[in-house]
Amino acid sequence: MQTIPAQQSGVCCWQQQLREAITDPVRLAERLQLPAPWAQQMLAAAASFPLRVPEAYLQRIKPGDPQDPLLLQVLPQAQELDRPAGYVTDPLGEGDANPHQGVIHKYRGRLLLIVSGGCAINCRYCFRRHFPYGDNQLGSESWQQALRYLRKHTDVEEVILSGGDPLATSDQRLGAMIDDLERLSHLKRLRIHTRLPIVIPDRVTPALTQRLAHSRLHTLLVTHINHPNEIDGEVRAALARLAASNTRLLNQSVLLKGINDKVSILKSLSEALFDCGVMPYYLHLMDPVAGAAHFDIGDQASRELVGKLAAELPGYLVPQLVREQAGAEAKVPLAPLIPGASGTP
Ligand SMILES: *Cc1c(COP(=O)(O)O)cnc(C)c1O
Ligand code: SF4
Repeated sequence: MQTIPAQQSGVCCWQQQLREAITDPVRLAERLQLPAPWAQQMLAAAASFPLRVPEAYLQRIKPGDPQDPLLLQVLPQAQELDRPAGYVTDPLGEGDANPHQGVIHKYRGRLLLIVSGGCAINCRYCFRRHFPYGDNQLGSESWQQALRYLRKHTDVEEVILSGGDPLATSDQRLGAMIDDLERLSHLKRLRIHTRLPIVIPDRVTPALTQRLAHSRLHTLLVTHINHPNEIDGEVRAALARLAASNTRLLNQSVLLKGINDKVSILKSLSEALFDCGVMPYYLHLMDPVAGAAHFDIGDQASRELVGKLAAELPGYLVPQLVREQAGAEAKVPLAPLIPGASGTP
């Protein structure tokens, strides 16, 4: 495991939590009082994509329940070793949209930067589970190269910091990056796609919120929450700090079999998000990534589910059901099947 030098007290808190994340499946099974056979299955799957879950997230998992919806997001499973046809290692063809190391320019006007290869948590369904992060994160040289690319592409109005998890980066480095981006006069918006405020709420430090509050760019932060149980008091407080920093909050979820593929769960999620000042944005169909086929519920069931959700909620609380398609110029929406609408079964 990577060690990060101890920082000034106070600052190190989230970094220490990151360092102390559980990565040993046997320890996880013990910590959550899961039956022994699970550990055996875990070991094989964890060998291809490691387990990683910090304590702050573990605290929201019910001990002794192998079906806990948060546990299922992080627990290595034997089914991951299945290789059904059509599930591949680079489902989005990002290899082709990669002009420079750490830069993905796939959609007009927006540029995605892979700021950090690391994540605070390893999500089993992640489409980036096979992504060559080692070769692709922004070191200081490739950061300069990304800035040169941005200077040439004056049609880009929005930079998206992504990863891995961009907030796995220190506040100091992040602040320096934002300084550089603010000097590009054609940029209007800065968006951060992150799961860290959910996984380790202490990541939302005063230094981070102050930097966001004082940016000349419009700041947005897209959280990644799949289930209402992920939102506890600490998460609510972290989101409130972000909202108070003049950062607009959106959420994206991934539709996952056995985790959030029920109208009642998606409804409580949207309501809980709204209570925290977060607007539901996207509900992603699973990308067909090798090792995650068992989470896929299919197009038809997804469209029916979101149709039923739309019948329960105001329109602004219904996330847009989308999939990413290699070659498409935007994320591709799938129409919800609204109960009672003509042409709907
Ligand atoms: C999703 C994504 C974006 C942002 O798309 P929006 O529809 O604006 O949220 C930009 N670049 C890449 C590579 C993406 O995958
Ligand atoms: S990139 Fe996001 S979804 Fe993938 S493992 Fe990291 S936090 Fe989870």
